[in-house]
Amino acid sequence: MVIDIMNWENNVRKVVPYVAGEQPQNNNVIKLNTNECPYPPAPEVQSVLHGFDSCLLRKYPDPDVSELAAALAKRHGLSKEQVFVGVGSDDVLAMSFLTFFNSDKPILFPDITYSFYDVWADLYKIPYECQPLDENFRIRKEDYQKQNGGIVIANPNAPTGVWEAPSFFEEIVKANPDSVVIVDEAYVDFGGESCVPLIEKYENLLVVQTFSKSRALAGLRIGYAMGSEKLIRYLNDVKFSFNSYTMNGVTIKAGVASVENEEYFRRITAKIMETRENTKKRLAELDFIFPDSKTNFIFASHKHVPAQEIFDALRKNEIYVRHWNKPRIENYLRISVGTDEEMKTVLDFLENYLKEK
Ligand SMILES: *Cc1c(COP(=O)(O)O)cnc(C)c1O
Repeated sequence: MVIDIMNWENNVRKVVPYVAGEQPQNNNVIKLNTNECPYPPAPEVQSVLHGFDSCLLRKYPDPDVSELAAALAKRHGLSKEQVFVGVGSDDVLAMSFLTFFNSDKPILFPDITYSFYDVWADLYKIPYECQPLDENFRIRKEDYQKQNGGIVIANPNAPTGVWEAPSFFEEIVKANPDSVVIVDEAYVDFGGESCVPLIEKYENLLVVQTFSKSRALAGLRIGYAMGSEKLIRYLNDVKFSFNSYTMNGVTIKAGVASVENEEYFRRITAKIMETRENTKKRLAELDFIFPDSKTNFIFASHKHVPAQEIFDALRKNEIYVRHWNKPRIENYLRISVGTDEEMKTVLDFLENYLKEK
């Protein structure tokens, strides 16, 4: 008789996890592979961390994250009831998929986009259908005017850096009154225009932003969603069915300090945009082509040298950028915008390297 063993594995939820950009522990590298901010967070964030009273950690934090939701609501001209805060926008997006994508019809998103969307869809067993970007990496809005169980689009898109105006999304939202449309605005602070004003008009539009890129706080983990009070209520119902205390007290206070220093925020984002424009010029001179970026990264392909070769050469010299071995984009590198000094080192290296090719 054969005894059946190890059948427990049949009941395991098996997933292929998202692969994040490498986080080298050596600080001497030039790290341009995960779109982090090269500047420190607002000085007030440091003050909060220094002055934080550890006795407060005895108690559970505020499950409603009211103080931070209120600060964000004020900044965006919304009410606190229109804001949901989570542990980075990855947490907010994962929670939104679970809450709003609950149909037998497939959800829609571009073929080239944030590579977490298909991972969440698989995790929750949500059917999905990828819509191909056109040959210039632009979204075709007709593709989002068919039967669907929801829509999620990053704007500006990642890793392409391509941006569309809010009017473009208004057409998509208008055409989909039966679905929730999520616009992931992780990079909107680098020259794009937000869809937030549209949420007063469309109950089914959810806009997601993060502190990780433009607020130099990837390590703190804060993301948030903005939408109609009804959408936010549904999102909170799911969150409170999962984990009431996602946001810790230190993070809430530091997040408020960041939001309240608008001046510093504008200064560092303007600086990154300036560095980006200078980097574009030099990359073009070195025979790179790239879609015009409105983000803190550039998605570039060299006219003659394969991306994998350039990636390997950069890597050997402790310069980290991102490369995906995926159809349509295998010949591109995503290069985050660092400081002027970092970009000069990278561009000088590329200039010498390409000369020898
Ligand atoms: C970085 C990024 C996120 C996630 O950011 P968090 O650090 O989890 O806030 C979400 N969407 C896109 C498109 C991103 O690039």
